[in-house]
Amino acid sequence: MPTVSSLMQLIDQASAKSVLDVKLDEDRGLAEPLPYPFMAVVGQAEMKTALLLTMINPAVNGVLLVGPRGTGKTTAVRSISDLLPSVARSLCQYGCLPEDIETDGIDSVCPDCAKKYGQGESLTRTDRVHLIELPLNAKIDDVVGGVNERAAIQNRVLLERGILARADRNLLYVDEVNLLTDDIVDAILDAAAQGQYTVRRGALAATYRSRFALIGSMNPEEGHLRPQILDRFGLRVIVKGLSDPQERLEAYKRVRMYLNNPRAAMADYAEQTIAARDEIQTARNNLPNVKLTPEAEQVGLQITQRMKIDSLRAEITLFEAARAYAAADSRVEATVDDVRAVAPMALRLRRSQFIEKFFRSQKGEENEIETVLEGVKRKKGSRGKR
Ligand SMILES: [Zn+2]
Repeated sequence: MPTVSSLMQLIDQASAKSVLDVKLDEDRGLAEPLPYPFMAVVGQAEMKTALLLTMINPAVNGVLLVGPRGTGKTTAVRSISDLLPSVARSLCQYGCLPEDIETDGIDSVCPDCAKKYGQGESLTRTDRVHLIELPLNAKIDDVVGGVNERAAIQNRVLLERGILARADRNLLYVDEVNLLTDDIVDAILDAAAQGQYTVRRGALAATYRSRFALIGSMNPEEGHLRPQILDRFGLRVIVKGLSDPQERLEAYKRVRMYLNNPRAAMADYAEQTIAARDEIQTARNNLPNVKLTPEAEQVGLQITQRMKIDSLRAEITLFEAARAYAAADSRVEATVDDVRAVAPMALRLRRSQFIEKFFRSQKGEENEIETVLEGVKRKKGSRGKR
């Protein structure tokens, strides 16, 4: 087993009780104002690790939690809102950032931001990362944005940004992601691929930044996930119910305590929550300094090759998750052990039986084409000799 970080230890214990005031943000982007404390989630080490790695390094490309109902997937995802780190947030609704100008020039931001930048004004403020939830009943206009109806009544046409624009530099959570309609899945895939999207309504058009890490949960009994969107999730966790009776009893007691008095339950875990949040912020700040060792890179490539995984996203997630794992352990070198620790989460559900079967049958056809070509060549060659 790799060395266990202090962050991981914090997750494992989650029992000390100390009462502290819990400050609540007004705009959580969440329906649930008092989430169940992350530190009170019993067991489920892999699910918790995957969520932490996503908070530390958005480049792991999010998490998919797959499991039956009642295994605490949704509760665990919502519980991370108190652990989320800070980020430089754009002051503009289009999400313009100074690094956009540094990499792509002044024309890459809106005229207002270009002017502000020229005058030396700041384009950002420090803000917490938010967990933005995409409700299953959301309409496409809620998701990408659309015409503001109130303004439209006064004969003014205003475009309003949608959930995907609000998810910029945040985490986007979709519960029951396998039940989304195709138009919404396409909009999410589009935004995820480009990091931005454009809305057109009549003569109006607006482009919004939309750089988010996607967190999804699903019950496989209720329908499968389109391969295209499955590929978008970096880490994959199979969530099973707790098997240890003692753990089940502990989970029951904690949930009962939370349901009786959510504020008291949050206060009980406040000290650990604050400690964990600080650790996550520190790990995130240190992440740019973390490098993979050459051995770790080689082992990672070997694993994906032996597993016969096609998607390049497998390596990206494997290596970025290994870096985040090392950062969580306050190290600047991500080793073979870090790669091993995250490999199951990064690599499972990557192979498609359909594609494997398709390649096998395709091989038959390729051979057939080769044989036909050979035959044609020989005939042609023999005719030429005549
Ligand atoms: Zn702007």
